[in-house]
Amino acid sequence: MNVIGRVHSLESCGTVDGPGIRFVVFMQGCPLRCQFCHNPDTWDTNKGMEYTPEQLMKEIVKYKSYMGFSGGGVTFTGGEPLMQQGFILEMSKLCKAEGISVALDTSGFIWNDGVKEILEYTDIVLLDIKNYNPIVYEEVTGVSLCPTLEFLDYLREKNINTWVRYVLVPGLTDNKDSIKELSSHLRNYPNVSKIELLGFHKMGEYKWKELGLEYKLSQTKEPSKELMTEVKNILELSGKVISVNA
Ligand code: SF4
Repeated sequence: MNVIGRVHSLESCGTVDGPGIRFVVFMQGCPLRCQFCHNPDTWDTNKGMEYTPEQLMKEIVKYKSYMGFSGGGVTFTGGEPLMQQGFILEMSKLCKAEGISVALDTSGFIWNDGVKEILEYTDIVLLDIKNYNPIVYEEVTGVSLCPTLEFLDYLREKNINTWVRYVLVPGLTDNKDSIKELSSHLRNYPNVSKIELLGFHKMGEYKWKELGLEYKLSQTKEPSKELMTEVKNILELSGKVISVNA
């Protein structure tokens, strides 16, 4: 089967989307509408460049030695990579056959048997939990939190190494009671090896404007050092390693 993938862009030596040096594949398409999204240009599933799995593998293997010595690999992100399950499955299989480690960066919103099959070829999941309060989650993303929590349970069942990512947006995702609850919830997940705390930034604001979309966070500031530290301290209650990317 030759599935075609729609790819937004490629980054050959990424260092912020999983361990080591990574070949990062930004896939087109996303069912969420996060208010702080810095890649709204990935939302439309019909855009992007077309690749067959073989064409994309040709690009990836050029960087195999960098990935190997740094403990890196390939990261599928987006957008939401699980919008294109057939392609991600083929790519993940090809990467594993080449001995390349596979990371999947996902919101966990798309949750079905196809995803379970992809996870058989996934070494690490970067699970973006946009908020732990279901009402705030829906306000932030436009969708329900439930599938993401089921996804997390499945990752524990299969003991798949997971990094949880949390974007801190002042006035939107800095509801500390819910962060505390998230922290204590994650204590029950031995497969979660790290929590990444990411500071909100507005680098994608111009893309919203270009797309004619209303950017609701124009007046929102980046989180202060104090707020980042306070939230980091709360996340440390989970007993996990916390990394901070302001
Ligand atoms: S899941 Fe990611 S790509 Fe999709 S809207 Fe949210 S931030 Fe943007």
